[in-house]
Amino acid sequence: MDLFNTDLHIHSPHSIAVSKNLNLDTMVETCKNKGLDILGTGDVLQPDWLKYLEKNLKKNNDGSFSYKDIFFILQTEIEDIESVHEVVFFPDFSTVREVQKKIKPYSKNLLDEWGGRPRVNLPPAELVEIITDLGALIGPAHAFTPFKAIFRQNKFKTLRDCYQDAEKKVKFIELGLSANTDLADRLDCLKNVTFLSNSDAHSEGPRALGREFNKIKMDNPSFEELVLAIERKNQRKIELNVGLHPKLGKYFNMFCHKCRRRIIFKKTKKQGSSLFNQYSITENFVKILANDPIKAKKEYINNIAKGKVTCPACKEKFNKNIKIKLGVSERIEVISTSPEPIHPNHRPPYINAVPLFDIIRSIKNIKSTNSKTVLNTYNKIINELGTEFEVLIEIPMEKIVKFDEGIASVIEAIRADKIEYTPGGGGTYGQIQFNI
Ligand SMILES: [Zn+2]
Ligand SMILES: [Zn+2]
Repeated sequence: MDLFNTDLHIHSPHSIAVSKNLNLDTMVETCKNKGLDILGTGDVLQPDWLKYLEKNLKKNNDGSFSYKDIFFILQTEIEDIESVHEVVFFPDFSTVREVQKKIKPYSKNLLDEWGGRPRVNLPPAELVEIITDLGALIGPAHAFTPFKAIFRQNKFKTLRDCYQDAEKKVKFIELGLSANTDLADRLDCLKNVTFLSNSDAHSEGPRALGREFNKIKMDNPSFEELVLAIERKNQRKIELNVGLHPKLGKYFNMFCHKCRRRIIFKKTKKQGSSLFNQYSITENFVKILANDPIKAKKEYINNIAKGKVTCPACKEKFNKNIKIKLGVSERIEVISTSPEPIHPNHRPPYINAVPLFDIIRSIKNIKSTNSKTVLNTYNKIINELGTEFEVLIEIPMEKIVKFDEGIASVIEAIRADKIEYTPGGGGTYGQIQFNI
């Protein structure tokens, strides 16, 4: 049995807001730097991308697909009639074409140039039946994000609510960038499903591709083995999930639907006549001052869930009542069945990570996300020490210290979970806070 670092959800240039440089060659180059062995193809139902993949991917004797020395799983993301996103994996190209034929009558954009992530007007349960009957695998994508996700605000609270009798055919959920195992295992309905941590990358860059991945124990990199690993059969399994610290994700924290300010709570000694009437507004935040911020936040979340809370910043500026939306962490608070995570025995460990590129950016105090200086340092580390995953997780600290003390100190703090984060929300990524 082998271990494969696997990122199972990406996109192609045929989805909206995707890098034009995304192609098999650029993907493979990033995979090598990162230490990824297997990658989802992204958007395999889109006709042009499908043709390109059919032409370039080599089918191996064990049933796996490869390009140069990286393996690929045929993969797409679909939006169903409930606007829930689902990730789909296919055994081979003929199944891709069969699924295409079967769902085409329900989709207006499946065969479009920009139909990378098609909208298919079928209820979730029916979509699951169709996909699994044809031998492919399906499960909810970025399960807790406030948009287009199964567990978003005012939508489903359990897998059963969404998939009804087809629930038993859903073997995995994708956690999404703003959630991890500790958050997701507060929902009893998820105890039997496998968790996947995937990047949902829209670019081949080292900040996107592989920012989340799964270390999978299986015999070879084929679809059949992946199914066994997801179903945890014959000793195949997900051995480890690695993903962004949830606070770094774009949707961790509650936010205003219009101005996108994140709502955070701060302690104050000043006595308020009633809750929530003391606050300060900055460019990116509404800071609510409370004597007991934890208690106040709880009450606030309950009120948002009831649709009662409007944005103080928008009220002041536009004199308009704009609703506050729950982030991933608060939505989980509302639908959780336990105040603490209850991990089933099969659940692998989860490592909270920060992309190496962003670690270097923070150390060098560089804002640009495509800085040459940062990229040069990144390439130098990879050349001298090993793949990004090895640098972040495995390589002994002494070696990294010799390369660069600053970078080493941040990696050490991240490994020990001794780092503070400014939580992301409303579409803005979170950030590492530096006091080191
Ligand atoms: Zn999606
Ligand atoms: Zn607002």
